[in-house]
Amino acid sequence: MAKASERKGVRTEELECCAAERRRQLESIRLNFVTFPVIRSVPCPGCKLVLKIRVYERPTADATA
Ligand SMILES: [Zn+2]
Repeated sequence: MAKASERKGVRTEELECCAAERRRQLESIRLNFVTFPVIRSVPCPGCKLVLKIRVYERPTADATA
């Protein structure tokens, strides 16, 4: 009998669909928003989990500034 303390299957990383959607949202924010922070709750189109998207400052990937 397995010990109850062995909590297998506890997922701490995002599902692939959520990670993809988060990347899309971050890209959209990076392209379309000029003021930060941006905080959004977006339902994942794959699994319907609500993703909390939070960007506190302009991403440094924007090299054209
Ligand atoms: Zn998902």
